[in-house]
Amino acid sequence: MAPRLLLGIFLALVAVAPHVVSEFHVTLLNYIGLSALVALGLVLLTGVGGLTSFGQAAFVGLGAYATAYLSIGEGLPGWLSMLGGSPWLGLLVGLLVTAVVAYVLGLLTLGLSGHFLPLGTLAWGLSLYFLFGNLQFLGGHTGLAGIPALSLFGYPLKEGRSFFYVIWGVVLGAVWLSKNLLDSREGRAIRALKGGVVMAEAMGVDTTRSKTVIFLVAALFSCVSGWLYAHMQRFVNPTPFGLHLGIEYLFMAVVGGAGHVWGAVVGAAVITVLKQWLQDLLPSLLGASGNFEMIVFGIMMIVVLQRAREGLWPMLTRLVPQRSTPSAIEDAPALARKALPEPGKVLLEARSIVKRFGGLVANNNLDLTVKAGEVMALIGPNGAGKSTMFNCISGVDSATEGEVLFCGQEVTRLNSRQIARLGMSRTFQHVRLLPAMSVLENVAIGGHLRGSKGVFPAMLHLERMEEKRLLAEAARQVERVGLKDSMFEAAGSLALGQQRTLEIARALCADPCLLLLDEPAAGLRYLEKQALAELLRKLRSEGMGILLVEHDMDFVMGLADRVVVMEFGEKIAEGLPEEVQRNPAVLEAYLGGVD
Ligand code: ADP
Ligand code: MG
Repeated sequence: MAPRLLLGIFLALVAVAPHVVSEFHVTLLNYIGLSALVALGLVLLTGVGGLTSFGQAAFVGLGAYATAYLSIGEGLPGWLSMLGGSPWLGLLVGLLVTAVVAYVLGLLTLGLSGHFLPLGTLAWGLSLYFLFGNLQFLGGHTGLAGIPALSLFGYPLKEGRSFFYVIWGVVLGAVWLSKNLLDSREGRAIRALKGGVVMAEAMGVDTTRSKTVIFLVAALFSCVSGWLYAHMQRFVNPTPFGLHLGIEYLFMAVVGGAGHVWGAVVGAAVITVLKQWLQDLLPSLLGASGNFEMIVFGIMMIVVLQRAREGLWPMLTRLVPQRSTPSAIEDAPALARKALPEPGKVLLEARSIVKRFGGLVANNNLDLTVKAGEVMALIGPNGAGKSTMFNCISGVDSATEGEVLFCGQEVTRLNSRQIARLGMSRTFQHVRLLPAMSVLENVAIGGHLRGSKGVFPAMLHLERMEEKRLLAEAARQVERVGLKDSMFEAAGSLALGQQRTLEIARALCADPCLLLLDEPAAGLRYLEKQALAELLRKLRSEGMGILLVEHDMDFVMGLADRVVVMEFGEKIAEGLPEEVQRNPAVLEAYLGGVD
């Protein structure tokens, strides 16, 4: 209950603040609110999504200039003049313009990897800034004055005190929307962007779309901040939309705690207050005027990055008792399941697969079939090319030559997301999960394609029923693989063997007809291996096809219906387990030392 209580206290403070503090401090709080809105977008974009943007101030500018130009209404061309004069129209047009500009910039820059993306945001941040200053109808560097005050229900918001409630109402609304978004199916996809793209795509998540979503949300939050700013300040010029403000917003998000929604508010408060204070203090200390606070900020940033990468918010939350982690999952009607194909039907057919990495031939002319209701094992020494074959089949990588048919459809050139949609699900030899997220949430990512509610229902929390069903399904799978006791623990805290088991639950959560398991038993204890074998037998008896790579020969031979043996990228034997075990080539190449 403690967090609820704290939230209540915070809201009460917000409600009384303008009545108890001076006009000057109300203005300061207003600025904090405006910055918090932009920083909140950066929490989603940079903190959660891992996409660094230095250019958010430009979106604030778009929001401010759109409403300034339209609501002043002077100099509008005739055909637009009837639209002039309304701040609300200014908001609507601002949001539209920002959405279009952000979408185009997103298309151009979000695909850039590594440091190219931040460089891209610097480029458009600068360009938009200079555009504002150079367009004569926007007043050039002088800007536009005479922006009308906002009025709400006929009540003009001319002073800072009344404006305070509008700003903070919007900030709290945006916090609520962001929290809802992160706590949903779409949110899990967004949280997978940082470090889990390959995995998420293999679970059917369109990660490009998720990136675009947070980019647009962040841009629109900034635009609203700009709209509020313009009507509070009543005039605009290009200065507050330049690159150094873009950097300052990023400071706020990082200092506050870039991965935490409330961190945006904390960061905005700390930086705004500190800036105000340093701007007074430093020049008098140093006896010279100048932007010395930027130097202090720079040093502070380095200290934060060195000492407290998570920012201030997690430190603050450590000071108060935490809500006990959820310990139960609500029951909900099961999600629809796809009918499994008839046992014996060929699910997967890989023909003459060749995969080259430069000069290295990792797979050479491999054929492989997997039928419904069978366990096909792929074995071979390390480096034989088994995982490479998995990647070619599941679309994580593409074969250099050959073709893959899945459920009668050619999938050779499809990507992993498209293949997942057809009913193939996989685990990874080197586990790919989101360590900070709970076991349950990690497994729920596997169910991504079984939900359909998008961003808007998620933000407004209108997808409750679907979300409950997804989580209930994830919980069932967690229980099925025997991880019930760790359901709400962070996935990263599990032993490696259990992390592999988690991946199986995640794959099963997708309701696949073909399951690809890359060394699922590695790191498991004897009893855990037996439980896993039991589970796989049960899945087989239900009609699922299973392709298994495994090193534990007892495990494989006791379970597999057929075995393919690989060495140096080539198939050297295929058959029933007992045939393969007797095959001289296999004994020589692989089992020789074991027998
Ligand atoms: P296995 O899973 O059977 O142990 P892999 O499929 O992982 O084998 O690897 C087969 C061969 O391909 C190895 O020699 C490995 O070094 C090489 N290989 C795998 N992935 C890549 C890659 N992305 N780039 C270059 N070489 C690779
Ligand atoms: Mg491997």
